[in-house]
Formats: sequence, C-alpha cells, structure tokens
Amino acid sequence: MINFPQSVQRLTIPDRAQIDGSSHMIGEKLGRLTVVGAAPSAGSKRRWHCSCDCGGETIAFQWSLRAGRSRSCGCLKAEELNKRQDHELHGMHASPEYRAWKLMKTRCYNPRFPEYPTYGGRGATVCEEWKTSFTAFLRDVGPRPSQQHRLVRIDDQQSFCPGNAHWLKTRSRVPKHRRHEVRRDLSILDEE
Ligand SMILES: [Zn+2]
Repeated sequence: MINFPQSVQRLTIPDRAQIDGSSHMIGEKLGRLTVVGAAPSAGSKRRWHCSCDCGGETIAFQWSLRAGRSRSCGCLKAEELNKRQDHELHGMHASPEYRAWKLMKTRCYNPRFPEYPTYGGRGATVCEEWKTSFTAFLRDVGPRPSQQHRLVRIDDQQSFCPGNAHWLKTRSRVPKHRRHEVRRDLSILDEE
C-alpha cells in the first residue's frame, strides 16, 4: 500500500479516490462480495460499498477486504453458525430428548406405527415449530428430568405444543389402567 502524507490521509474517500485513483477496487470480487463503489471513510479507514452473491449488501473496510476478513454481507457467518449448531446438535441425537421428539412425531404422523391409532389416528398433532425444530422443542420442554419421566400432553385433546406437553414422572401419576401403555412406551423409547 502507498503511504500518503498526513494531509492526504485525513481526506475523505471520494477526495482520495480522485487523488490516487483508488476506485481501482471497484469490480473486485472478494469471497462473495463484489466492490460496487466507494463508501464514506471511517476516520482514516477506507470503506467500500459491496454487493453480495446472496443479494445482500454491506459496507466493508478496505483493510478487511484485503485481509480476507470481509467475505460476505454476513450470510456466510450465519451459514457457518448454523452448520456449527447442527454439528453440536448431532451429539444430541442419541439423547432421550431427541428420541422423545422423534417418537412424538412418529406417533402423530406415521400411520404404520403401532401407536398411531392412539395419537395421529385420534387427531393428535405437533405444532409447526416443534415439528420442524428439535432445538425449539428442547428449549420449551427442557431436558428429561429422569429415566422415569416421559413426554405427555396435559390436555389430550390439544396438540403437542409449548404449554401442553411436559415430562411426567410415570410411576407416580399415571392411572392404573394406563400403566401398561406407559411400560410399552418406555420399552419403545429404550429400543429406539
Ligand atoms: Zn450475503
């Protein structure tokens, strides 16, 4: 990079662009970003308007573009974060919470599942957010307190959704006539 005298350093971008022809960055592609024009500088730091492959736009520092630190409008970071969360969740796939989540959906939506008639067959559903997101489910019901707990609805006429499903300790509060169901549920949970 060329070292300008102090007086020039203090000038704003358009001025400097005129002086040193620094509009040379326009059209450059850095990661997902394409430099489209000069942006007002921040102090002595040169900045550029950039458009992103995703359709977004951003203003990036020149040093950051040059250093490879600005590579997108922010979409790349978001994608990487999602990937990392997926990866972390992977460890949860063997957890009782994940199995309960899968089981809940299977009961409601898989007609070939032996318990379907008691659930989906009677109109039981899972709310849209829980259906698509294990994270949301886990956030709302929390971790299973113990091996004696199973996921139940508070009101059997309502769907599996926040406020209507919780972990219930099976050996204390399940009515006698339903205990065989519970035992069956637990064996399914254990087998999965
Ligand atoms: Zn983007």
